Amino acid sequence: MSQHGLDVARVRADFPILLQEVRGRPLVYLDSAASAQKPQAVIDALVRFYTHDNANVHRGVHLLSERATEAFEDAREKVRRFLKARESKEIVFVRGTTEAINLVAQTFGRKHVGPGDEVLITGLEHHANIVPWQLLCEQQGATLKSVPVNEHGELVLEALDGLLTPRTRILALTHVSNALGTVVPVKELIRRAHAKGVPVLVDGAQAVTHFPVDVQDLDCDFYAFSGHKLFGPMGIGVLYGKKELLEAMPPYQGGGDMILSVTLEKTVYNRIPYRFEAGTPDVAGAVGLGAAIDYLEALGLEAIAAHDRELLAYAEEVLGAVPGIRILGRAQERSGVVSFVMQDIHPHDIGTILDREGVAIRTGHHCAQPLMKCFGVAATARASLALYNTRADVDALVRGLHKVREVFA
Ligand code: PLP
Repeated sequence: MSQHGLDVARVRADFPILLQEVRGRPLVYLDSAASAQKPQAVIDALVRFYTHDNANVHRGVHLLSERATEAFEDAREKVRRFLKARESKEIVFVRGTTEAINLVAQTFGRKHVGPGDEVLITGLEHHANIVPWQLLCEQQGATLKSVPVNEHGELVLEALDGLLTPRTRILALTHVSNALGTVVPVKELIRRAHAKGVPVLVDGAQAVTHFPVDVQDLDCDFYAFSGHKLFGPMGIGVLYGKKELLEAMPPYQGGGDMILSVTLEKTVYNRIPYRFEAGTPDVAGAVGLGAAIDYLEALGLEAIAAHDRELLAYAEEVLGAVPGIRILGRAQERSGVVSFVMQDIHPHDIGTILDREGVAIRTGHHCAQPLMKCFGVAATARASLALYNTRADVDALVRGLHKVREVFA
């Protein structure tokens, strides 16, 4: 039992994948920021859906279609509650964070961003929150600007007001950096952007997994996250958008379900959120995501947050004591990941040797090449922590890193 009330031994028993050996060693999974493992409750929900309820949604009058539709809409309501959104119609199911951001760029963005306008992002962004805006700016003749990052991996907030100009049409920023773990004070940034009439999209892919998020309290205009990082299935994700904004946005993709009526001359689009959910959605994925949210809420989001904070502090302390290690990113508030480099040993070599010890970490640029450039590195090794990780996992990582040092001595 952690001192904050999370029974991690019990939690671990809920994740069957963790019970295996890899390369003859017990698996130590420290790559949840890339994709988290799934509790049995989520796996069971998928099996139950396909075993009992599978049918297409919003279409049939038959019982299975009714049950599938109900399960899908229940999942939407669970997401609404999880994000503390006002209405479930503000929850759009998408494939993941990447699709959520592309959707906003290509609908809201195409409508509101024109030649000479500006889109503001930050130096902390994942490529998923850079490239969609670059594409939009190229299409519309607009300019992409970025809030700089300091040597601690924090945004230079003093630069913000100068970067929010009368031409800024949207600010898109991450809540937590996937590469450094920096927690961005998004509420403050949203307040300052709104003061200048600029709407804000928050990439919450690495935030929702570690602490409770309240989109009404943040007052963000859009919030995106991926199911697979939240211990749910791959292929499902969420875009939250304020009702008034979603209602005024043109559709994203065309097809079934997003229409009210179609003639060859004119299509009348469906109401939100269905207008943005063309085609057969990932119903089982949504149901699985709902099960993941139930699972997390039963454990307690605050207890999970406290466990994650405590374990990160421990990881930073013991990793910092390994000779030759430099931890990147020392923001005042951090969450979920420790990114590091080790003398002149390539991160891929670190990852390969750790893998032989059964320890799974991520190495590379973490889809954040502009941020890597800021720190003068091409890649880092990144250990990421989740609710099922323990101090013993971190200790195994440290033992592995000593092996790395021996190999390269
Ligand atoms: N944004 C952040 C901060 C991420 O960490 C990730 C995934 O690593 C993404 C966006 C993209 O998520 P997905 O690949 O699930 O769409």
